[in-house]
Amino acid sequence: MTHSRPGILELLDRHGLSPSRALGQNFVADPNTVRRIVRFAEVTSDTTVIEIGPGLGSLTLALAETGATVVAVEIDRHLIPVLTDVLAGTAATVVHADALEVDFRSLIGAGPATLVANLPYNVSVPLVMRILEEFPEITSLLVMVQREVGERLVAPPRSEAYGAVSVKVAYFAHGSVVARVPASVFVPRPNVESVLVRLIRHEVPAAAQGVAPSRLFDLIKQAFGQRRKMLRSTLKGLLDDAAFDRAGVAGTRRAEELGLDEFAALAREATWTG
Ligand code: SAM
Repeated sequence: MTHSRPGILELLDRHGLSPSRALGQNFVADPNTVRRIVRFAEVTSDTTVIEIGPGLGSLTLALAETGATVVAVEIDRHLIPVLTDVLAGTAATVVHADALEVDFRSLIGAGPATLVANLPYNVSVPLVMRILEEFPEITSLLVMVQREVGERLVAPPRSEAYGAVSVKVAYFAHGSVVARVPASVFVPRPNVESVLVRLIRHEVPAAAQGVAPSRLFDLIKQAFGQRRKMLRSTLKGLLDDAAFDRAGVAGTRRAEELGLDEFAALAREATWTG
């Protein structure tokens, strides 16, 4: 059984807790939403699941009920006794740690594992990027994030939300927004709508051939530093006219128009010093 709104309020009251805004604590108080998340994550009894920020354990409980191996990483020590209570009788493991620092490999072994989380809003992008960049054992992610953040993660070229983060995500994974979630399902209620984002890691990073990821990402960051300026100006010093020609990308184009493959072509032709 996952927690309904009265259940969440009762748990907070019984443990003398109030949600911490600094830790992005907006608890899901709707069993339907929890069920949807588990369904979209396609968790089965064979899955190893990492959850970031179990909070009061609503999602953790539903994940554990599938028979999956669940390891939940929570930063707030005040929530640990609540989680111990709520998860008693399940096989879920709670680890008191900062998900921005913990070594997930030591928690899941060789993998594969899937990440399922209602992410703390203030650090949702760094958490997703850390998982994608550092833990290839985590092969899929189903995360709930603010709508604006979710749209940025999976935005295609030329769209309003497209930016350096979108290109980096595309490098590692295929991403899509799979559902919208209204603000009314959370306690406390945030000001904005949320979305569920699914990221399926590519077996081999999409544009890996012939370019170090760190260089590709440096070039992408530099290009988006002034997204509406021409690349021949934003990437001056890295590429001259001949290099743009070799890459097959006109220097008059702008970062917001380019897809991952075109950034990779530019990174391959760039002159890197140091
Ligand atoms: N999973 C719960 C739910 O859906 O109701 C809570 C989600 S709440 C949006 C985010 C949770 O992440 C909170 O429990 C918060 O304490 C935790 N958190 C915040 N920053 C964290 C971090 N760096 N590492 C691990 N947990 C974190």
